[in-house]
Amino acid sequence: MFKRSLFEPDHECLRQQVAEFLDAEVVPHHPQWMENRQAPRRIWQQAGEAGLLCRTIPEDHGGHGGDFRQSVVIIEELAKRRLCGLLTFLQSDIVAPYLHRLGNDIQRQEYLPDLCSGRRIGAIALTEPQGGSDLHGLRSTAIRNQDEIILTGEKTHISNGSEADLIIVAARTGPTGCDGASSAGFDMLLVEAGTPGLTRRRINKTGMPALDTGHLTFDNCRVPEGNRLGASGMGFFYLVSFLSIERLVLATYAQAMAETLLRETVRFCATRRTAEGTTLDYQATQFRLADLYSEAATSRSFVDSCIVDHTAGRLDNRNACIAKLRSTELLTAAAAAKLQLSGARGFCDDGSDGSDGPDRATQDVLDSAVQTVWGGSSEVLRNVVGSSLANML
Ligand SMILES: Cc1cc2nc3c(=O)[nH]c(=O)nc-3n(C[C@H](O)[C@H](O)[C@H](O)COP(=O)(O)OP(=O)(O)OC[C@H]3O[C@@H](n4cnc5c(N)ncnc54)[C@H](O)[C@@H]3O)c2cc1C
Repeated sequence: MFKRSLFEPDHECLRQQVAEFLDAEVVPHHPQWMENRQAPRRIWQQAGEAGLLCRTIPEDHGGHGGDFRQSVVIIEELAKRRLCGLLTFLQSDIVAPYLHRLGNDIQRQEYLPDLCSGRRIGAIALTEPQGGSDLHGLRSTAIRNQDEIILTGEKTHISNGSEADLIIVAARTGPTGCDGASSAGFDMLLVEAGTPGLTRRRINKTGMPALDTGHLTFDNCRVPEGNRLGASGMGFFYLVSFLSIERLVLATYAQAMAETLLRETVRFCATRRTAEGTTLDYQATQFRLADLYSEAATSRSFVDSCIVDHTAGRLDNRNACIAKLRSTELLTAAAAAKLQLSGARGFCDDGSDGSDGPDRATQDVLDSAVQTVWGGSSEVLRNVVGSSLANML
């Protein structure tokens, strides 16, 4: 939709490869995965074999040794097709980099090759039932007992949560008070599926329904001391240092999805006949779409500048927040416009009204709404940006 100077010919070759894989192996099955509320495990290994996982992890750990723009290509191709059953970026750009950056040699050798090949599915569990926005308020505890760590607590709305083979869990190193407060630091623990005391159940969502989302309970789980990721008590620092990349990844996904919805809406309006022409001929339609297109153009430039910064290792946290805030709010506006401008057809995703109107318009609204909540809600992002304003003076 917009001219971009970000990619090199190699990235475009990768884009072609990714598109072919998704169109053949994912798109035809995705409606079924939405009904099942999860994708089959085999698709992770197929994605690994097709080169869709862990592009930035070095080759000696099973990855591709590529730059972040390779991840961007994959995220964009998923978003263009509004695929959520195989959200490779959670594994490739969040879980694996945590392990690569913080893990010791034993941990890297044990887990990274399997995450890169898709033999293992990864997850990261921060959010707890009493709230995900306030990470300071985490109540799960990781209490050291000789050469083990006893993990107790609950995590909820965890992507890949009911199927993951490896879960990075954030928990406090000391007990919490009755009000949930504690001055203890956090540990990041590597918890494997099958660890005694770990139970989980799947959560059914209306937004992004094909994404496996789980509720996890840790009842005196005994985690070996060797499964602590990074230094004890440093978990909060690690969480904060990874938030920027997480937000940029989500901004990349939202921006590409917003552009797709906008394109589909223009296409539909240009063909929806009225007595005077098409609905695109109405000035009201043109103004609404012109506003969205202008916002998409400025947001695209900003997201791309953040991608360049991250590729060069200098992404600023405030800019990552701005990128996620603008792109996700653009997306929700684009989804609302698509539904409104589709008229009644927008509410018939299955085409049972006999029309060939834009499909998925209602599902797009629900999927878009997720984007302004996960990985830091819009309000939380505004808090981060707002509280940094005084530093500009
Ligand atoms: C599809 C999906 C996948 C997810 N995957 C994961 C995952 O893999 N791992 C994980 O750990 N978590 C995951 N989450 C959880 C997600 O990160 C949280 O939903 C998010 O952080 C918000 O937390 P919450 O839902 O508990 O809302 P709350 O913290 O209860 O907040 C609810 C609302 O209150 C408002 N609010 C909250 N705090 C403030 C504030 N300080 N100022 C102003 N307003 C505020 C906002 O409107 C916010 O949306 C996922 C969520 C979804 C929907």
